[in-house]
Amino acid sequence: HVHVVGNACVDTTFRLGRFPSAGETLNAVASADGLGGKGANQAVAAARTGAAVTLWTALGKDPAGAWIRNCLDMELSDVQVNEFDLPSDRSTIVIDAGGENFIVSGVACSEAFDPIAQTALARRIAPGDILVMQGNLRGSATNACLRAAQEKGARTVLNASPVDAAAPPNFGLAEVLVVNQSEAKALTDRSDMAAAADALAAKGAGTIVITLGADGCLVLGPDQAGSLRLPAPHVEALDTSGAGDVFCGCLAGGFAKEMSVTSALKFALAAAAIAVTRSGTLLSCPSASEMAALIDQ
Ligand code: ADP
Repeated sequence: HVHVVGNACVDTTFRLGRFPSAGETLNAVASADGLGGKGANQAVAAARTGAAVTLWTALGKDPAGAWIRNCLDMELSDVQVNEFDLPSDRSTIVIDAGGENFIVSGVACSEAFDPIAQTALARRIAPGDILVMQGNLRGSATNACLRAAQEKGARTVLNASPVDAAAPPNFGLAEVLVVNQSEAKALTDRSDMAAAADALAAKGAGTIVITLGADGCLVLGPDQAGSLRLPAPHVEALDTSGAGDVFCGCLAGGFAKEMSVTSALKFALAAAAIAVTRSGTLLSCPSASEMAALIDQ
């Protein structure tokens, strides 16, 4: 069973010809709301691999929270929501004609969320389950979940994104740590990714995975002398947003199907390569039948 613990939010995207200057009001060329949040994205990707998935998340008692809940229920069979008297998390994404973006986020629910204290997560995690977390909750809340999973004999996957360099989670509690290149650099101050992987291993994580965009990923296991690179399938990338979430969700889904770390990484690379050929974040995630075809290959 995969437990994804993380944020779910409304992503509102505005497409503009150019960014406004301070004090200016501009009409967008197009605007749309979509389900977002790294927790939600990774849970949906994991569920589409065919794994049994529970998403543990925090929402406000507001219309946005009801809307997010409805979107989640269409994708996932088990959504455990902690409700707060706070505004639901939301992001506004502003994209100009050149594809550059600005993102501002409201994160009150993620900041208030302490799953071990506020939910039945600790009771529900069982030996052999897989706990998947990201960097949106407070480091202390993330650590408490990882520790509870370890105590139960569950596996832990930590995608330390976004990076909170001031108070990062305890990487020693992560069996598998996944970061992209900029996160690896921010956490270790190393530009060379093999050196960054060594530095992250020294912080205590078991297996280090650094995603390298079109170049696939680098992996450094606990028993490995040096890191290995796994290539990504060569595709024409259209929109890479959400690729990292598809990657992490599929890695956990692969573990739930008892794949080895290398097999699960190859599956995650194949699924993320499909996602980058399409636009949208959650919209670009491979369908359940596409995932099944990748697993049968
Ligand atoms: P993030 O999206 O978090 O910034 P990356 O850019 O490293 O992280 O992408 C995550 C994963 O998505 C990569 O490891 C790879 O599997 C896949 N990916 C991203 N860009 C491409 C691409 N151009 N071609 C194929 N796969 C890609």
